[in-house]
Amino acid sequence: MTFEALGLNTSIIKALTDAGYTKPTPVQEQAVPAAIAGKDLLVSSQTGSGKTAAFMLPSLHRLSALEPSAASRTHNQEMQAARARGERPRFKPAQPKMLVLTPTRELALQVTTNTDKYSVNLRRLKAVSILGGMPYPKQMQLLAKNPEILVATPGRLIDHMESGKIDFSQLEILVLDEADRMLDMGFIDDIEKIVEATPDTRQTMLFSATLDGVVGNMARRITKDPQIIQIMSAANKHENITQRVHFVDDLSHKNRLLDHLLRDDSLDQAVVFTATKRDADTIADRLNIAGFSAAALHGDMHQGARNRTLDSLRRGQVKVLVATDVAARGIDVPTITHVFNYDLPKFPEDYVHRIGRTGRAGRNGLAISLVNHAEGMNVKRIERFTKQLIPVNVIEGYEPKKSAPPRSTSRPGGWKPGDNRGGAKPGQRTFSKPNAPRRDGASGGGYKGSNPRSNDGARRSYGDR
Ligand code: AMP
Repeated sequence: MTFEALGLNTSIIKALTDAGYTKPTPVQEQAVPAAIAGKDLLVSSQTGSGKTAAFMLPSLHRLSALEPSAASRTHNQEMQAARARGERPRFKPAQPKMLVLTPTRELALQVTTNTDKYSVNLRRLKAVSILGGMPYPKQMQLLAKNPEILVATPGRLIDHMESGKIDFSQLEILVLDEADRMLDMGFIDDIEKIVEATPDTRQTMLFSATLDGVVGNMARRITKDPQIIQIMSAANKHENITQRVHFVDDLSHKNRLLDHLLRDDSLDQAVVFTATKRDADTIADRLNIAGFSAAALHGDMHQGARNRTLDSLRRGQVKVLVATDVAARGIDVPTITHVFNYDLPKFPEDYVHRIGRTGRAGRNGLAISLVNHAEGMNVKRIERFTKQLIPVNVIEGYEPKKSAPPRSTSRPGGWKPGDNRGGAKPGQRTFSKPNAPRRDGASGGGYKGSNPRSNDGARRSYGDR
């Protein structure tokens, strides 16, 4: 399948060729023709699947075919005339044609950057990000240019709508990106309010890791006769990512093991996930003292500091990013070879998002969870969700004192990028050695004999606290 066959116009195809894209990804193959035809879409796909282009390419195609409305021409002409007279133009509400809602600032910036790349030959179409943490005067300047495309986080967008800075009466396309995540973050009322302010005639596309439960209910309310596209089931997610569990006795064991694993020759860059913002800071400090170029990334940091940290990561100046779930959402840096769960996430869905920070752009990745014995049930919940068993590894010199259930052992020579043999494929049982301790179920990672009350030094995780 080629991009031409999807029906995209030549200006967009040229931009894709220049960006080095040779063929559409599966989600693009399905979503682009349907969206060009104006259908509403409900798409379940992961970050890394090319979902941004799946909604942005058909939208750019459709928007570029629209004549600018008379209202929009007048708006822009009035602004230009006022500037030519040396006057400050009277502010008129922006009237975007497309709105993309995202859960986090990082994802919004990433969507805007990708949109700029795809629309480079479509000069009339401009995308801007409207984000919490960005100074209001700067946002007013962006809105004053009446951009066709807004990429926004819900909270800040509502502020601008309520103060009359944005008018959605001309909106043609609404996209909810990572809708499940937005709902997890408590944005449901804001989303309902925003949807209410847009015309019923709009095209709506909703992207989410899952289309079940609350997301599914909302999706049905806000779309009309949607085409449902399900690209990846839980069972075949992240097959290019090798997953491992290492059992640890206590925090000091966990820290020693992390330091050892971070010195692996095959490691280019890594993300270490912690449960709390304070831990992200503490561990980043500790790793810096230990000689790693580490940086923290969490929701208490100002947007400027978060952007600078992400830039340093992209430029390779930061080797180890220590992050919370919320802050690391959507990070797309192909040179991240390793993801470490210093703390397990609260929700299995977050585990899937976390490990997806590696294995980007068709590469392989390694995801290692450092787990204390009391957390066996949490591993089991993750395995049940992903329908993949996570092999247990033990490294010589770093064995846990407690007899961890040795479901598999590390291969001599360690892991190398491109080597994916350690990962459990769906249905593959890598742990069931004849002398392994009994497990309390056929499909999970919980272990009988572990004491759920014991606190072996590792803390429980509760998201971006
Ligand atoms: P996303 O799922 O939107 O986060 O995209 C993941 C990564 O894949 C991004 O770095 C995109 O630039 C890249 N990408 C998207 N579509 C394609 C494609 N058709 N060919 C190659 N890379 C792509």
